[in-house]
Amino acid sequence: MALRQAIRRRGAFLRPAFWKPRFSASCASVSPCSASSCCSSASSSCSARTEPSSFMMASNSFPAASTLDTNPEHNPNHSDATASSLGWPSPAATAADRAVKEGARNDWSREEIQAIYDSPLLDLIYHGAQVHRHAHKFREVQQCTLLSIKTGGCSEDCAYCPQSSRYKTDVKAQKLLSPDVVLEAARKAKEAGSTRFCMGTAWRDSIGRKTNFNQILEYVKEIRGMGMEVCCTLGMLEKQQAEALKEAGLTAYNHNLDTSREYYPKIITTRTYDERLQTLQFVRDAGISVCSGGIIGLGEAAEDRVGLLHTLATLPQHPESVPINALLAVKGTPLENQKPVEIWEMVRMIATARIVMPKSMVRLSAGRVRFSVPEQALCFMAGANSIFTGEKLLTTPNNDFNADQEMFKLLGLIPKAPNFDQGTCSCNSEEEHSEHVVAAQ
Ligand code: SF4
Repeated sequence: MALRQAIRRRGAFLRPAFWKPRFSASCASVSPCSASSCCSSASSSCSARTEPSSFMMASNSFPAASTLDTNPEHNPNHSDATASSLGWPSPAATAADRAVKEGARNDWSREEIQAIYDSPLLDLIYHGAQVHRHAHKFREVQQCTLLSIKTGGCSEDCAYCPQSSRYKTDVKAQKLLSPDVVLEAARKAKEAGSTRFCMGTAWRDSIGRKTNFNQILEYVKEIRGMGMEVCCTLGMLEKQQAEALKEAGLTAYNHNLDTSREYYPKIITTRTYDERLQTLQFVRDAGISVCSGGIIGLGEAAEDRVGLLHTLATLPQHPESVPINALLAVKGTPLENQKPVEIWEMVRMIATARIVMPKSMVRLSAGRVRFSVPEQALCFMAGANSIFTGEKLLTTPNNDFNADQEMFKLLGLIPKAPNFDQGTCSCNSEEEHSEHVVAAQ
């Protein structure tokens, strides 16, 4: 008898998170309580504790931390102290719950993001998925094709990059690709299912490159005319250049922060972190979507990965796209001997990015070629919803196109349609948007 009671009590305590009431007396809607304050406040008004329904389990609204049965009145064995000694709910659960209820926020402390990042991995993945499904159509994955239109011979010293003229690598400097080559590549990418075409140049900036810059403006117009989103990564921009790109129809501009502010000088010395942020601001001001993320595996510590996410997640507006790259160490670069990034590091980074920037497209970028389909599936589960397709990522190899199509079929993923709302912000209201605009000025 005593044993049976103990099992019953323990069973209640160990009840999985999704075992929550289908509807409570105070939740009038069909919603499975995720937005209701009655459960989140562990209120005793919730009287309808039932078993999980198939509706709840199939719903896009995953249960949140606040729906965990931590109410002592429902479970006399439970106490806050017991829960916290088990690390439950985890910081990932708590932050995901808040993201689902309140949407994107940009007042993160670094400690908060570190705690999410350090949450137990499976919990982090689960809650990354929760936020992902709330903010996005979880089957949709954006396919972008990246073409290096001006390869090699770059004056910068990015320690990971084979295109820097400072390192002896196999990459040969080339001139800007001609219109027929670029436009044909864009057409092929479109035929293959890509909705975004990105063009990269190995430049510090485009100052003094008027002819080439004007040529790129033409590429942007032409490719936009094909019905594709167009993205460029041309190094640092001036305000007027950002405006000209916007005028030409550019959808997004990529300029990665690479790593944390603290670790950055160990990777690049030829331009500053603040210069990078300034370019992002010009892009934002011009009304172009911001694409900015970083690279893991540069020899940085976990705190630097958190620092990168903290900088991105506390920008007045989150970047619309956040590429997460795993270093592909290239012979001849200072980082040639870095050990490959483990899938678990990638998944942890993606899930944390998803929770702290719920509405951004989180892109599983360079390094994907090293991950198996099951490993990539974990990344999609954790919240990634964008990939690069095509033979190469600038100069490094990328996944086989047919293999990607097979993977989509296998995992039930579908290509995301293009979105031409340039610079669409992730604010939750007009009021919030006005505050961001003021903060950015
Ligand atoms: S990452 Fe870009 S800026 Fe840095 S060396 Fe390579 S091409 Fe140049």
